[in-house]
Amino acid sequence: MNLQLSNNEKIVHAVLEKSSKPLKAYSILFEIQKKGIKSPTQVYRALDRLIEIGKVHKIKSKNSYIACKNEKCINKSSTTFLICNLCEKITEIEEETISKHFSSICNQLSSKYSNHSLEIFGTCVSCNKNS
Ligand SMILES: [Zn+2]
Ligand SMILES: [Zn+2]
Repeated sequence: MNLQLSNNEKIVHAVLEKSSKPLKAYSILFEIQKKGIKSPTQVYRALDRLIEIGKVHKIKSKNSYIACKNEKCINKSSTTFLICNLCEKITEIEEETISKHFSSICNQLSSKYSNHSLEIFGTCVSCNKNS
């Protein structure tokens, strides 16, 4: 797979990397309009590709995107996130055992596991300390 990023992809990725929170597509567009990217299509195209190569993940329940912080992310087709109910902090969970677990559940149903997209809700470490 070609991992070279296009200019647009680099710009979109940089915006997400700088953000501590997941961003919606229109917030990304707002940030990068100064850099000459004007159309939502360009943003979506860049996001699709960044997701495909595992540099960005989508948080479906929030309809937002985050940059993956891990160079060797194993979550290319499957993702698992822990989302804090109080501060909305998002932690990416990298656990191969999760896929193995789902795979064995599927096997029991005579089905074949392919991937998963999981969002777990709870409270994060700093919110737990403050409560
Ligand atoms: Zn990742
Ligand atoms: Zn929290």
